[in-house]
Amino acid sequence: MKLLEERIRKDGKIKSGDVLKVDSFLNHQIDVELLEELGKEFYRLFGQEGITKILTIEASGIGVACITARYFGCPVIFAKKNKTKNIAGDVYTSKVESFTHGRVYDIIVSREFLLPGDRVLLIDDFLANGSALMGLIELVRSAGATLVGAGICVEKAFQPGGKMIRDMGVRVESLARVASMSEDGSIEFC
Ligand code: 5GP
Repeated sequence: MKLLEERIRKDGKIKSGDVLKVDSFLNHQIDVELLEELGKEFYRLFGQEGITKILTIEASGIGVACITARYFGCPVIFAKKNKTKNIAGDVYTSKVESFTHGRVYDIIVSREFLLPGDRVLLIDDFLANGSALMGLIELVRSAGATLVGAGICVEKAFQPGGKMIRDMGVRVESLARVASMSEDGSIEFC
């Protein structure tokens, strides 16, 4: 999606460790008009799929998921990063390794909200090694819901997550796919 690629070129900041910072429009300050365009594009891609729930992961996926949900007319569920040791029995749980912090944590979703009859679209801001998406996919499977696909704002295509998840047969649609980037500021899209 040209609009997002241009914005990344203009305002994205490339940090060490293959991290792309988009804090001025997506991850900290949020450009709501831009997110509306992203939401519209996700709707163009998945609007005919009978989506009943959008599932994302806290915190940075929530904004784009909520705006996208306005086009689909469905609720958003965000998986919570569980901080307590005792996990109550009324939740589905899976593990995610944080790309930016390196540690592994549990994510949970209440059984009350993710139902076997749901048709689920996953939404997230970034796709890197695929751990966040894998964790969300596991929650959908635990619930016996139908996974329709994943809508990603920025996929770093030089990292393995996109291939791994597409190879599992999951439809992944990324609005900007970064082919390469380096700390001198150069960035190429697929
Ligand atoms: P993965 O689980 O695919 O390795 O990483 C995806 C998650 O890590 C996303 O939810 C996102 O929050 C974070 N992430 C991965 N790469 C980046 C990046 O380059 N920049 C930012 N801001 N977040 C990233």
